[in-house]
Amino acid sequence: MRTLDDLDVESKRVLVRVDFNVPLDEDRNIIDDARIRAALPTLEELRSRGARLLLAAHLGRPKDREPELSLRPTAERLSELLGEDVRLARDLDEVPDGDVVMLENIRYEKGETKNDPELAERYAALADAYVNDAFGAAHRAHASTEAVARLLPSAAGRLLEREVSTLRGILDDPARPLVAVVGGAKVTDKIGVLEAFLERADAILIGGAMCFPFFAAQGHGVGDSLCEEAGIEPARKLAGQEKIQLPEDLVAGREFKADTERRELDGVDVPDGWMGLDVGAATAERYAGVIAEAGTVFWNGPMGAFELEPFAAGTRRVAEAIAAAPGTTVVGGGDSAAALAQFGLADEVDHLSTGGGASLELVEGKSLPGVEVLQ
Ligand code: ADP
Ligand code: MG
Repeated sequence: MRTLDDLDVESKRVLVRVDFNVPLDEDRNIIDDARIRAALPTLEELRSRGARLLLAAHLGRPKDREPELSLRPTAERLSELLGEDVRLARDLDEVPDGDVVMLENIRYEKGETKNDPELAERYAALADAYVNDAFGAAHRAHASTEAVARLLPSAAGRLLEREVSTLRGILDDPARPLVAVVGGAKVTDKIGVLEAFLERADAILIGGAMCFPFFAAQGHGVGDSLCEEAGIEPARKLAGQEKIQLPEDLVAGREFKADTERRELDGVDVPDGWMGLDVGAATAERYAGVIAEAGTVFWNGPMGAFELEPFAAGTRRVAEAIAAAPGTTVVGGGDSAAALAQFGLADEVDHLSTGGGASLELVEGKSLPGVEVLQ
């Protein structure tokens, strides 16, 4: 993959695709600016090498040019972080001059998500070179991530470079034992990841609602637990594998609510009228022990409904074990990152991926269009 080392940027106008798809509150204040900060190394390097920047990013899924999805809040935040004026272009035909200029939400453009070559030509006409640093969008072939890269001298930014080398490194040459911790809501979302790790990992620790299709396949009662029907057959095929470890105890609630009645279950049979909402203490302790011995840990998907305090303990214990692990630790997935942040552990892992879907696809061994085009 071509990197910033391969690109001549001095005195050039460089179009930089960044991932500024940040969460906003009702008043359009940025709740978490991690994605903006993650782009700073690339932007600062380009500035120091004499480039003028034209940034392209998307926010949400606009159907029209909804003003609520304007990139203005991110332009303002970036301006503070860079200590430079960031001007926002109203549209592609009215791009102001300036050292740092940002295009409006590129999903306002009809052809963006269709990878429209004509739109890509319009982007390319605005710049002399192209850098993609938007790892979170690299699994999509869009005009600003794929087609435009073919039209200009192009390279990956430092964030994209680090994401790809770290996540590919897990597959290609991990320090062993390689332990995958996989949780979250749905097996079907993560079947590809499980299969990839079945070939390469030494242990796979399953948690979250993911475990219920496994238990259903084994004939256990799952009560009212979130148990994805379509996940039961794939889980049945995986359940016999020695590498796959399942919970031995659970914490259940009556409803998906923090103030619901709560009950610790000694096994994994969930009675009718109850739902499994967390792994139990014995499971969390066992998983923590496996994590402590790992050479590499990849974590995707919470161990339970960590948003609800009474059901956060299993995810917290596993997160703490990952934070304390001597091995290399890599975390992917929006909710897993949110859980780490909630426990104050976000800075305690070696790599916290900025891409949800993109990180899973990379770990599955798929090639990402936005990366492929830079090769
Ligand atoms: P990530 O974003 O890290 O990839 P997912 O989106 O796959 O993770 O899963 C996160 C969601 O899974 C959380 O909202 C969490 O509440 C939910 N979840 C985890 N365990 C359970 C469970 N036992 N029952 C219901 N929901 C669960
Ligand atoms: Mg999620």
